[in-house]
Amino acid sequence: MIHNDKRICDGVGLWLENRTDRDWDGLPGLFLDRDGVILEETGYLGRVEDVRLVDGAARLIGWANRQRIPVIVITNQSGVGRGYYDWQAFAAVQSELDRQLQCDGAHVDFVVACAYHRDGKPPFAIDNHPWRKPNPGMIMAVRDQCRLDLSRSVLVGDKWSDLEAAARGGMARGLLVKTGHGVQQAGIPPSFDAGSMGIDIAANLDEALAIFKQETSGASG
Ligand SMILES: [Mg+2]
Repeated sequence: MIHNDKRICDGVGLWLENRTDRDWDGLPGLFLDRDGVILEETGYLGRVEDVRLVDGAARLIGWANRQRIPVIVITNQSGVGRGYYDWQAFAAVQSELDRQLQCDGAHVDFVVACAYHRDGKPPFAIDNHPWRKPNPGMIMAVRDQCRLDLSRSVLVGDKWSDLEAAARGGMARGLLVKTGHGVQQAGIPPSFDAGSMGIDIAANLDEALAIFKQETSGASG
């Protein structure tokens, strides 16, 4: 099962889609987990009719667009690996996400996804693939393509495993948002060493945006 779609960069289980030709050298990136953060968590989201933006997603992404902060969607997609849906369905979901964001004048610059999982069906059955969060492989792949500055970058996730990937990628900040799995996750302490990465917990994306705005104005003041 080898795909010809150039976005499936290994022909099987890794999606790497750079939508811009901008030079990101030295810029900070905004990495966003998808399900439970910018799209409502439905459990293995593979159907266009189930695509619903989380409240505040377009406001946060639109703000980053205006600040010229690259926006990267970074998502584990074991649903592809388990055979619940395929890359074509993943692409259709992404197109619907793009369409809904576009209605509010917002856009995503980069999409990276990993379908490998220990319980996947061959050829997706790879345990602990370096790209699968909490491993930092997806973050490193984006950096290698665009040369953005991870030490100034931030990630928003609804699981501690998202933030662990950010910490291991050397990011400045990880923000756990209490949507999707986030309410449950916020009730347990993180099990990883965050090192020098700052951690915030926000009720929703509007609160996350307020935190980012405050830091941006603080940094320039
Ligand atoms: Mg999630």
